Amino acid sequence: HDEQAAAKAAAIDADNGAPTIFDKIISKEIPSTIVYEDDKVLAFKDVNPQAPVHVLVIPKFRDGLTQLGKAEQRHGEILGQLLYASRIVAEKEGILEGFRVVINSGPSACQSVYHLHLHVLGGRQMQWPPG
Ligand code: C5P
Repeated sequence: HDEQAAAKAAAIDADNGAPTIFDKIISKEIPSTIVYEDDKVLAFKDVNPQAPVHVLVIPKFRDGLTQLGKAEQRHGEILGQLLYASRIVAEKEGILEGFRVVINSGPSACQSVYHLHLHVLGGRQMQWPPG
């Protein structure tokens, strides 16, 4: 349907180098509630939270990582940093006892923004399997 078509177009645009909304969040042109930041990683609260805690963890430099499905060997270090930053976020947000990290990769996984991001979710009982 429409969202799927829009996501497919966004994925192609991003692979051709088009910026996403996250570039403006990184540059602080669009304000966000920052939970964690270092020279490589930014973590900020999702504007449409799906749980009491819902934070997005992103690389500051997209470097080809429009989606996890595009990852290459050279991305190993930043991928590890993002995963570790998720744990720091969970601790800061008080959900270290139980939290979920989700990456949607591609239109059929409902990825909508084509700049890799990890969703850190918690603060309520999670269900399995996810939808
Ligand atoms: O995995 P997916 O690409 O669907 O996730 C994108 C996420 O980015 C959504 O959860 C959406 O709420 C969030 N978002 C945001 N701020 C924006 C645009 C999107 O937090 N300005």
